[in-house]
Amino acid sequence: MSIKVIVAGFKGRMGSTAVDMVKGDSELQLAALLDPFASEKDFDGVPVFTDKADLVGFDADVWVDFTMPKVAYENTRFALENGFCPVVGTTGFTEKQIADLIALSADQKLGGLIAPNFAIGAILLMEFAAKASKYFPDLEIIELHHDKKKDAPSGTAVKTAELIREARTYKKQGAEDEEETLAGARGAEFDGFRIHSVRLPGLVAHQEVIFGAQGEGLTLRHDSYDRISFMSGVNLGIKEVVKRGQLVYGLEHLL
Ligand code: NAP
Repeated sequence: MSIKVIVAGFKGRMGSTAVDMVKGDSELQLAALLDPFASEKDFDGVPVFTDKADLVGFDADVWVDFTMPKVAYENTRFALENGFCPVVGTTGFTEKQIADLIALSADQKLGGLIAPNFAIGAILLMEFAAKASKYFPDLEIIELHHDKKKDAPSGTAVKTAELIREARTYKKQGAEDEEETLAGARGAEFDGFRIHSVRLPGLVAHQEVIFGAQGEGLTLRHDSYDRISFMSGVNLGIKEVVKRGQLVYGLEHLL
């Protein structure tokens, strides 16, 4: 039996790529689409909704969300409260919001996934960076995205930083008497190290973690050149969440 999927944000760059992926997999069925500004009532025979409230009681298994940071938390709550397992790629969640959603999913006995990055290479970069930070505690994260991205730093950079915080012994980097003569020049501080966000047209999603030590350096870099790079992770997420009873944060928990 196929897994029935709702795609929220289906007109966006990621949402439309996810629609194509779902349509191309015979184990999945595109059940409904959501966008508050959609004018059409259906898209290739699939019903289009403009208000999520109209999806209460709808027959579907999974809620794929590629919307906007300001609505993704409410959307994910709504999905869990209405029996849809969320697979959320939208970024910008706070740690508290993620903890709340994990608790709600456990109450509802529903699986789910919030993944700041669905690309396998990015997951590996995060793991390698956390491992390297044990030996190279001096590091900086540089994330680079297209100039339409709404949140900074990226969800991937935040997740990378959190994994590094778990593995690395705390260290406040930089000179003790360091001064910014231009505000923001040193980037955002996280646990004693810095995160920098670059926004340029032409980019998709890229990240470097640069490590420095006495007389040596190490650079880890991942590039998503095309949004297709995220789709095998979204596909895996959809097929895994329906088997589980609690939401997880990070695709690595499903690999
Ligand atoms: P986008 O092109 O702006 O698409 C977002 C879409 O969501 C837009 O079509 C928007 O419609 C729609 N939308 C807004 N409010 C909505 C609501 N309440 N319900 C349903 N749809 C709504 O953005 P994108 O580049 O696809 O990125 C979407 C999100 O995915 C961002 O948070 C981005 O950071 C994230 N992302 C995640 C990954 C990953 O691997 N996890 C990878 C890339 C991007 P309007 O334009 O009409 O407002």
